[in-house]
Amino acid sequence: MPPTTAQALVSQTVSPSTLIDVAATYLRPEDIEQIEQAFALAARSHQGQYRKSGEPYITHPLSVATILAEWHLDPQALMAALLHDTVEDTSTTSVQIAQQFGKSVSDLVDGVSKLDRLEFQTEQQAQAENFRKMLLAMARDVRVILIKLADRLHNMRTLDAMEAGKQRRIARETLDIYSPIANRLGLHSVFQELQDLGFRYLFPNRYQVLTKAIRAARGNRREVVGKILTAINQRLTSFGVEAQVSGREKHLSSIYNKMLDKSLSFSQVLDIYGFRILVKDVAACYLALGALHTLYKPIPGKFKDYIAIPKANGYQSLHTTLFGPFGTPIEIQIRTHEMHKIAEAGVASHWLYKSSDTPLSDVQQKTHQWLQSLLEIQTESGDAVEFLEHLKVDLFPDEVYVFTPKGNIKSLPKGSTPVDFAYDVHTDIGNRCVAAKINNELAPLRTVLSNGDRVEIITEENAAPNPAWLNYVATAKARSKIRHYLRTMLRDESVALGERLLNQALRALKVNPADIGESQWEQLLKGDRCKTREEVLAEIGLGRRLNIVVARGLLPRSDLQSQDGQGSITIRGSEGIAVQFAHCCRPIPGDPIIGIIRKGQGLLIHTQDCRAIRQFRSDPDKWVDVEWENDSGKLFDVAIKLMVVNRRGVLATVASAIADAQSNIDSVSITKPDGTYTEINFTVQVRDRSHLANLLHHLREIPEVVRITRVQS
Ligand code: MN
Repeated sequence: MPPTTAQALVSQTVSPSTLIDVAATYLRPEDIEQIEQAFALAARSHQGQYRKSGEPYITHPLSVATILAEWHLDPQALMAALLHDTVEDTSTTSVQIAQQFGKSVSDLVDGVSKLDRLEFQTEQQAQAENFRKMLLAMARDVRVILIKLADRLHNMRTLDAMEAGKQRRIARETLDIYSPIANRLGLHSVFQELQDLGFRYLFPNRYQVLTKAIRAARGNRREVVGKILTAINQRLTSFGVEAQVSGREKHLSSIYNKMLDKSLSFSQVLDIYGFRILVKDVAACYLALGALHTLYKPIPGKFKDYIAIPKANGYQSLHTTLFGPFGTPIEIQIRTHEMHKIAEAGVASHWLYKSSDTPLSDVQQKTHQWLQSLLEIQTESGDAVEFLEHLKVDLFPDEVYVFTPKGNIKSLPKGSTPVDFAYDVHTDIGNRCVAAKINNELAPLRTVLSNGDRVEIITEENAAPNPAWLNYVATAKARSKIRHYLRTMLRDESVALGERLLNQALRALKVNPADIGESQWEQLLKGDRCKTREEVLAEIGLGRRLNIVVARGLLPRSDLQSQDGQGSITIRGSEGIAVQFAHCCRPIPGDPIIGIIRKGQGLLIHTQDCRAIRQFRSDPDKWVDVEWENDSGKLFDVAIKLMVVNRRGVLATVASAIADAQSNIDSVSITKPDGTYTEINFTVQVRDRSHLANLLHHLREIPEVVRITRVQS
């Protein structure tokens, strides 16, 4: 509805008097003054904005703050409630709010805004549970959730102004997300109201039918209720129990849910009468229970002692169902006034503002008090630890909740990375992941995920887990899957390499490997710590055993001829972990190479002229001859150093020459130019020596290039 001048005038006259009246019943004058200032800023910020109903927008935050004042929340929460939509919807900034009202108010506003940006779309039950957890985890401060619940409550109360489709969507979201949160936090009356309003807008027809039926039934009930009330009061008095007894009208949504859950007809549900009895202490609760059981017979199996074993949200009461005067069941709740307060207000009851309170600097302190009080009443029930764990997930975030590309929600331990996410989706996704997009932007795989992130994993068919991932994954699942993969891969490679090394040694002894039979292996394995042939081969491949020694062990003594020298084995470069290339000399195909046997780690390939291996050359047990296999198709890293004349664009020229030579640049570093020359260090990838030669040839043709060297330290 477009605003008219008359409405614009109304916005000038929206008055915070109700809020101020309620707040003044428990807050100090200086707090009230601050709240009035927050109202002034909110009214100014929302000036000219209107709700769907045509009312000035400010009526919404004002109502939200008033609801919170009715719950007796602290002044910061009330100010934040007044300002809760300003940062998202007006030009007011959180810096401004922090300056005028303090950081804790602006933090609360930011917290609410952050929740508003989350969108819940799927209709799956399990997802709703996760979404609730995500909201709670993101809130950090329980007051943010309380503001959000009051916000939702007011929006539900004023849902009439919306069109039907939107009403249904909001009602569904309220039932899926917000009323369960209210229930979890023990805010019973909020829970009930959200349930009823949600039911009303989600099922408008059923709502109307039920409302009419209830109204019709109420007349008949009044007489029965009056009779039972009198009887209960008399019996309690005769037992000396001082009590406040009231008949409970059932909420519409709970009537409906009962009909669904227990497959009862409307009249069966409505035939149940409910009464609540409030007494002064726990002893009186049990006394009242005993008194009532002498009045009407209890229905077996219906008695529940939630005082000894409270519900997870802290709810305490005695519940019993009795056979009433006309054979109708009577449901009774018995509790103390204190328990009643907590049953109605839940976590909010611990936020009740007391001006004598120590400063509210510790925002978690009150939540902690609430948890502590829950824990105390919960210890007797035995599952206190599990209970606390459960709540901790909600209120003290140890977990992080992220979206999949399809909008599903995953919960992961705090500190998780895209790699954890990938393994959580599927082992194959984890094993093949090469990159990740977080909120549509490429991000390193080691990035720590935040609540609400949308994570997409990019995979490649032939990719494999990187051992470096073990340094930053947070989930046990990812860790064990990566380890498992690496172990299997290592083992397969080691066995294959071991076999080649062994065959080579056998040939050197002038024995055809095919001639080695089962019996010879059995002979060797007898008394050996290795139990299988594969284990022995793996040990050779890992460099834990020498091929020549195993080869000799497989032959009868007499067959052994003193033989020197071993035929060489071929290296493809794709062996993986059992064969590695030394970083000092970085051999590439075409370089004369030598394999150094490292205990437990397989072969390390150096160039034959590498200075690092001189000490090994004299000990034939420490090395083996190796040769390159022809054209393995793999790319090898090689380091080159260029001295170039300083000129604009020279790096680009060099880079494009490298690309022209069909080579990739893996890394570049530039040493500070001395004025005339700059030294550029490249790590590039080449197939072999002739590819490298071709590349160097390309580079030499660039006029600015003064000198090129292949770096082999
Ligand atoms: Mn709002």
